[in-house]
Amino acid sequence: MRTCNRGVLIVISGPSGAGKGTICKELLEKHENIYLSVSATTREPRSGEVHGVNYYFLKKEDFLRKVKENGFLEYAEVYGNCYGTPKANVEKMLDEGKDVILEIDIQGALKVKENFSEGVFIFILPPSMEELKQRIIKRGSETEESLMRRFKSAYKEINYVSKYNYAVVNDTLDVAVSKVESIIAAEKCRVDRIKENTILDSKEGLIHEQLYD
Ligand code: ADP
Ligand code: 5GP
Repeated sequence: MRTCNRGVLIVISGPSGAGKGTICKELLEKHENIYLSVSATTREPRSGEVHGVNYYFLKKEDFLRKVKENGFLEYAEVYGNCYGTPKANVEKMLDEGKDVILEIDIQGALKVKENFSEGVFIFILPPSMEELKQRIIKRGSETEESLMRRFKSAYKEINYVSKYNYAVVNDTLDVAVSKVESIIAAEKCRVDRIKENTILDSKEGLIHEQLYD
């Protein structure tokens, strides 16, 4: 009998500009079993952002309706806008054995932790606060006011690193990506994630395929 292990839920947080989005993009390009949950937000799209790809860009009333309908796994107000993880799909993808990334803020991550203690919680740190500021400026996506709001919040956000399972400093991008890949690879080898019958099926010669597909 062929069995499928449940996918790993990977929650990635960190201050704005730390490089979460850049790291996730690399992971998606390199690993076809990793999926990114597309969040909903009430913030305006940045230049080049596409509805349904980067975010579902919703009007506030539509976002609130979805909250009422219990359509979010979690939601939070972040830097003055609402963000939420649509519930449909995440469970389905995990059940299908797909690894799912939630790139969400700390409030959202803590809510997810209440229901998915088996999730892997990774905090991305910048190499320094000055570098963090330079990265947000370089991205060119924020007004002066939004930049300062995000930068000031970073000092508070960094205090929450202890709530996460792993901390990765994003200094050199390739190194940071490879550390996240190693974390995911190690988590997938944890005995408590592997279905007992998968191990017991080894006599049918399927064990390698089942553990590593
Ligand atoms: P976040 O998603 O955490 O807000 P981004 O992924 O948008 O951050 O990255 C912020 C900016 O920093 C982007 O312009 C990105 O190209 C740049 N960046 C990301 N990682 C690195 C890195 N390791 N070294 C230099 N610049 C980086
Ligand atoms: P940005 O506006 O830079 O795309 O995202 C701002 C912040 O919102 C980031 O910290 C990002 O991780 C967070 N965020 C994005 N999507 C969600 C979500 O669905 N839920 C929560 N709680 N935070 C989110």
